[in-house]
Amino acid sequence: MIVGVPKEIKNNESRVGMTPAGVFELVKNNHTVYVQSGAGEGSGFFNHDYQRAGATILDTIGQVYAMSDMIVKVKEPIAEEYGLIQKGQIVFTYFHFASSEALTKAMIESKSICIAYETVEDEDGTLPLLTPMSEVAGRMAIQQGAKYLEKPVKGRGVLLGGVPGVAPGRVLVLGAGVVGIQAAKMAAGLGAHVTILDVNMKRLRHVNDIMPPHVVTEFSNEFNIRKHIKTHDLIIGGVLLKGAKAPNLITRDMLKDMRPGTVIVDVAVDQGGCVETTRPTTHESPTYIVDDVVHYCVANMPGAVPYTSTVALTNVTLPYVLKLANTGWRTACKLDKSLGKGLNIVEGDIVYKEIAKAFQFEP
Ligand code: NAD
Repeated sequence: MIVGVPKEIKNNESRVGMTPAGVFELVKNNHTVYVQSGAGEGSGFFNHDYQRAGATILDTIGQVYAMSDMIVKVKEPIAEEYGLIQKGQIVFTYFHFASSEALTKAMIESKSICIAYETVEDEDGTLPLLTPMSEVAGRMAIQQGAKYLEKPVKGRGVLLGGVPGVAPGRVLVLGAGVVGIQAAKMAAGLGAHVTILDVNMKRLRHVNDIMPPHVVTEFSNEFNIRKHIKTHDLIIGGVLLKGAKAPNLITRDMLKDMRPGTVIVDVAVDQGGCVETTRPTTHESPTYIVDDVVHYCVANMPGAVPYTSTVALTNVTLPYVLKLANTGWRTACKLDKSLGKGLNIVEGDIVYKEIAKAFQFEP
């Protein structure tokens, strides 16, 4: 199969759909890989790295789309790319169709095969192509939180790890899922005192088993949240209700109970956030202040660390790319049920129920 890797053209997107290691595996399996010139530069992978791995570099995005059976990328196609997608071409990427009717219509018209990273689903209901981005965001949340606790950026002026003779900072983590556990682990590693809350006792038991004793688990309810926000320096929002808006666990009136300079990193901002005063921010202007509480609510946190994010994402997408290239999409999606759940639009038809429902199309 001929596999094409275009450069991402969405604003501020520096990730790329395949690393030279991915090219190497595909070429080893007798496939041809076309990479657009400069596609990997934002992630630290240059044309000569791809060429050494066996790829052919093409000058333009148009050539990559026109000459490939399958396109592997990161973000959903934007309007400039709609017309480039070919009939019968496989497009393997994040799509998030439910949030864009224009994209959905364009992909129906293209008669391509759209396989969405975000709906590839394992038997236990986990989403293997979303997990790495939550891991990145969870770990990054502590790095960012520690930075914004500094006084010059309006934080409390607390060093998370403390020093001999001074107690460490206190971190409250809402949600003990992928984001929450990675955040707790980073905070604990810095020496901070960590309290982690969840409504799922299985998650709390797991955290209790694997974390050091300065990571304390408690059940998530309003009473406990109101108690802890008064004494914690950094609060991480990592709550998810599948398919729904995140619940507002911290309401506006609670901010006045926090000490000035407390920092909230609401990672769940992409689902509306678990803090009432959350609104999405960007890497250019990541924070704002409400009632002396610093809010960091960047909706695409992994975008700031494209090298790590690209490698983490392509580690998990490559096995599926290989299956698609080796056997074609029909066989690959039939044999691998997880991958089959990624099929969203096939040759003009929406085949994923929730997307059809979102726009009231009949599946
Ligand atoms: P997850 O499903 O692994 O974990 C969510 C956890 O929230 C679960 O353990 C669940 O039991 C818990 N929860 C539900 N209700 C709760 C409550 N009332 N109190 C406490 N805990 C509760 O999800 P995840 O992968 O960790 O993702 C968390 C959020 O982070 C999602 O909204 C995700 O989209 C978002 N995210 C954002 C970015 C970003 O760049 N901002 C990046 C990756 C993920």
